[in-house]
Amino acid sequence: MTWFSNSDDSELYAFEPERFLVPPMEEFLRRIFAARWGMILVSAPEYIDLEQILDFLANFSIQSSYYSEFSASKEDFYQLEKDERKIRTIEEVLREAKEAIPDFQITDQVSHTIRIDNIPPRNPEVVFINELNNENISNAIEASVNHRLVVAGIRAEGSFPALQLFREYVKSDHLAAASLMGIIGLNTVGRICPECRIIVEHELGNLEQFMIGSYREKLCSYVGAGCEACSFTGYRGQILIHEGLELTENLRNKILSKMKPRHLRMIAKQEGMSTLLDAAWALSEAGETTLEEVMRTAEETDPGGTEPASI
Ligand SMILES: [Zn+2]
Repeated sequence: MTWFSNSDDSELYAFEPERFLVPPMEEFLRRIFAARWGMILVSAPEYIDLEQILDFLANFSIQSSYYSEFSASKEDFYQLEKDERKIRTIEEVLREAKEAIPDFQITDQVSHTIRIDNIPPRNPEVVFINELNNENISNAIEASVNHRLVVAGIRAEGSFPALQLFREYVKSDHLAAASLMGIIGLNTVGRICPECRIIVEHELGNLEQFMIGSYREKLCSYVGAGCEACSFTGYRGQILIHEGLELTENLRNKILSKMKPRHLRMIAKQEGMSTLLDAAWALSEAGETTLEEVMRTAEETDPGGTEPASI
């Protein structure tokens, strides 16, 4: 690295399956991919390559041979042969459906009553959509309530902003709550440059204490002091962090009762969800990222996080 080199590598992050598929995440994925139909969202900011993650999940869903009838019970699993689970694009599914049923209609407007009978039941299929948007949302929902498990990328900073965006796309909390199985939320934090890492003491203000959920007044954490190796930024690359939001019956009911994302997040945490903020916090304590990055994660992923927490 020369004096004049720019820090191109400061934007890099690596998707490492072994860091992603840690036991709680693997269990979570097995549970949500066990659904026979419904919607799984994979949320990530614009700069993250969603296709790479979706490819990984496609392989996971083939290798993971468990599925269950859709039910609230997590214990109710059956085992299937691998080749019974097919991976298709939404275009293939819709073309096939149109060929099978000549009068099959894709409605532009998603209605509250979905005609589940108009596509014959078949082996469980997983449909992947690179990026969910206003144009493809009605097709995606149609497929997700018609015997397909739809795995769709969505551009958001975390599971809860993604959930909010999904509710806006679907325009029906009833349909959003009924179709959604879970959300995999991805984001990154800056990796502290190992060449110039030092410990500093922070004084935490009230807002900082509230946002990171710690009531300590002072906190020791690591930062990069800046050196030639990191072009004096203090950071070298990015670390991918993730969270899994599982739609429990309780959360479905709260969505139906129009609960705000901030409060849904509190309930999910009470139910044991480990959030992006928890991941950022753990990396800060391990000396891999800064408190500044923890604060940024809190701001981006906790919608309305600075509002008073009253339900
Ligand atoms: Zn450095």
